[in-house]
Amino acid sequence: MSIVPSILEFNKQFVADKKYEKYLTNKFPEKKVAVLTCMDTRLVQLLPKALGFKNGDAKFIKNAGAILTQPFGSAMRSILVAVHELGAREMLVIGHRGCGMTNIDSGRIVDKMIEHGIDPVSIETLENAGIRMDKFFRGFSKPEEGVMASVRMIRRHPLFPESVPVHGFIIDPETGEIEVIALDYKE
Ligand code: ZN
Repeated sequence: MSIVPSILEFNKQFVADKKYEKYLTNKFPEKKVAVLTCMDTRLVQLLPKALGFKNGDAKFIKNAGAILTQPFGSAMRSILVAVHELGAREMLVIGHRGCGMTNIDSGRIVDKMIEHGIDPVSIETLENAGIRMDKFFRGFSKPEEGVMASVRMIRRHPLFPESVPVHGFIIDPETGEIEVIALDYKE
């Protein structure tokens, strides 16, 4: 059932055949772009292809729903590193149609957790300590809302430079069509 042995076998061959050669690049994004997007499986290859990005062109920061849950969390930290340390000069936030974080049901997640062996007492203890499951797993009612919440959080962040525009988009996970939600060019 486990996938790792087949991954390791493939990897050995990949390296031996020098299949990496066409991906060689460096850590600085060639197009000077950072992208916050969703971890959705349909976007793994489709998104960079639909944007015309090859390996090395952009910094991709991914999580469930492209949502920034907190201004000083790991996703925002990655964005700041991309901008201040790695040369990103534009920021794209890209949500998508059919996102799993649309109207996500935290009650259902809690049921699944219990099904997966999590002790209900642990959940209750966390709730009592102020870690509310409905807040922790909060999504959005439509992807535009999630994208704009992230765009606003980045734009207003005290450590994010005003000179870097932050744009918002929605991508169709089947056709790859991009819809502009918010462009941030001043002139
Ligand atoms: Zn998604």
